[in-house]
Amino acid sequence: MAQYFADMYQAVSSALIGMSITIKHIWKKPVTLQYPDERQVMSPRFRGFVHNDTKKCDGCGICAKACPVDCIYIETEGKAKDRYMTRYAIDYNKCIWCSLCTENCHADSITMSHDYDHSVYFRDTLVYEFMDPNEAKVPCHRITRTELGWWVEPKAEKKPVEKPAPESGPSDDKGEDH
Ligand code: SF4
Ligand code: SF4
Repeated sequence: MAQYFADMYQAVSSALIGMSITIKHIWKKPVTLQYPDERQVMSPRFRGFVHNDTKKCDGCGICAKACPVDCIYIETEGKAKDRYMTRYAIDYNKCIWCSLCTENCHADSITMSHDYDHSVYFRDTLVYEFMDPNEAKVPCHRITRTELGWWVEPKAEKKPVEKPAPESGPSDDKGEDH
């Protein structure tokens, strides 16, 4: 008999605890999003799919050399002032989102975007071509880029915070710390 009432108490109390949690959350704002119509705002440093702005890129190849998995393909033709980039592609099957390419790009053209939902049926389609074969080839040499109006100034470097110089007294003329 005692066991019967103990079981009853257990069942009723666990139901009440469950209901109290439900009631507590019923007036709260939902955290779920109606994806893909609604999307989460990613944090500024989120590393999504790598993107290259070919208008800024000069095909120097530094990013491809820095890439630890060799997933950046750059093809060029010509030499010196007549050198043009004909292909810039990234294989997202291999990319590990390390950001070494973006950190080494001198032109600030390759960036980690906030794109993250490139679901595909075939892995081949994850090789992204950034050059449109119907558009003009990208000039690599800076003089040619300037002449053709392709040169894009990279973002200005952040100035380092200047620390105030330590005050020197008359006894500091030897530059020694005390
Ligand atoms: S390092 Fe920058 S400028 Fe050079 S090829 Fe890569 S993306 Fe283009
Ligand atoms: S994020 Fe890393 S792995 Fe991906 S393309 Fe850039 S260097 Fe290569």
